[in-house]
Amino acid sequence: MSYLVFARKWRPQSFGEVLAQEHVTITLRNAIDSGRTGHAYLFAGPRGVGKTTTARILAKALNCEKGPTSEPCQVCESCTRIAAGTDMDVLEIDGASNRGIDEIRDLREKARYSASAGRWKIYIIDEVHMLTREAFNALLKILEEPPEFVAFVFATTEPRKVPATIISRCQRFDFRRIPSPVMAEYLAREAEGEGIPVEREALSLVCRASGGSMRDALSLMDQLVSFSGGSITLESAESLLRVVEHDLLASMFSAVFAGRGGEALDMLAGALSGGYSVEEVCDASQEFLRNLMLVAAGGVAGLDEMPDREAETLRRIAGAVSDVAVLDTLRIISSAAAETRTSSLPRVVLESALLTASELRCAVGVSDLPPSPASRVPGKAPQAQPRPVRQPGPATAPAPDPVPEGRAPAGPAPSAGEPPAPEEDAASPVQGGEDPPAAEATPTPAPAEDAASGQGGQDEEKEITRSLLDLFDAVPYENHSDGRQD
Ligand SMILES: [Zn+2]
Repeated sequence: MSYLVFARKWRPQSFGEVLAQEHVTITLRNAIDSGRTGHAYLFAGPRGVGKTTTARILAKALNCEKGPTSEPCQVCESCTRIAAGTDMDVLEIDGASNRGIDEIRDLREKARYSASAGRWKIYIIDEVHMLTREAFNALLKILEEPPEFVAFVFATTEPRKVPATIISRCQRFDFRRIPSPVMAEYLAREAEGEGIPVEREALSLVCRASGGSMRDALSLMDQLVSFSGGSITLESAESLLRVVEHDLLASMFSAVFAGRGGEALDMLAGALSGGYSVEEVCDASQEFLRNLMLVAAGGVAGLDEMPDREAETLRRIAGAVSDVAVLDTLRIISSAAAETRTSSLPRVVLESALLTASELRCAVGVSDLPPSPASRVPGKAPQAQPRPVRQPGPATAPAPDPVPEGRAPAGPAPSAGEPPAPEEDAASPVQGGEDPPAAEATPTPAPAEDAASGQGGQDEEKEITRSLLDLFDAVPYENHSDGRQD
């Protein structure tokens, strides 16, 4: 059995087979069908998501003997040659190894002698951002006046490094990472087609490890098949893939949340000496904290493709820390992750971020401290706070009220049928069933005064009355602002 079952198979041959890039393929198809093909395209996006593949399909679409057509026939000489990479008119150039001015000058010379009549000469330059400045200048000269049947497709993972003068002469398409569910679905289908048993949770690990790159996912699948001898299990995936282990992240951030910065640093050191790069730890940490945030906030819909065991760990941690602590830590780690990319000492950046996060947690107030005024700062304590409902009327009113309380109910009460219920009142536990009587009581201010003066009366009654008064207060704001003028 061939162990390269997956990677070799993934060669989308038509626009319809390209996964998850419809925003690109539909536009290209329309352009071809309407005869409005450009001379220069920039395909930007992460590696392994189909940029070069799409460039080849575009070449086929332009040069197919039945074409130009958005549905190349796949059987003519041109289509088969392009698919095999042997077509003389479709030249693939690796920008990383042909980055100098001489190569581009040479290209320019050859582009002048274009393909045979009616056919396009297509240059696909991969990793175009690697070209030197001089090479870009030479390239710009061709782009300014491209020969009639010459098209360029520039593929790059780093569009920011491509000069603006080049970009402005290209039609730019941004390729996306392939979403995990789409990728997992595809991999499951392919594995089934090959008769390879696959555990779904293993697929989710593969998808995450691939970072949205189909090429990476497929070669991981091939590695897994040869590693585990024909089937793909979660166990084999875990031991083979270099995903920063969930357990390690869980322990590291549990230490951070508990304010044990030293312990967190030890775990980081362990991860780094175990072979993970700072970047990998940063990425994995952000993903971990993001998932933790989702679990803490109850937004589990975003947790695609996560093994049950990991979800359980997240729930356990989320139960012990406040949402705010998770958010703060995520912010700190995210900005550190951005900083590591430009820093010459990325490890120091990550270490200080972990330490900051664990110190911050202490500063905010650890959840197991006894309740105190200080615990009002965002944290876990607020449940213990008394409700604000019992405070005198003006405090609960949304804005200063120029109208004395007594006058409010005296006004016309057209809104009696619809309880306006400002937030505070709606939340009041006493009010529940009392709404309809409140509306009927509107015309007579008397009971309100009774309750206000009868200070020895029952507390419950007072509270109901207060709620009613609050309700009255709220009515004129919304409905009688005009009537108040007289
Ligand atoms: Zn064809």
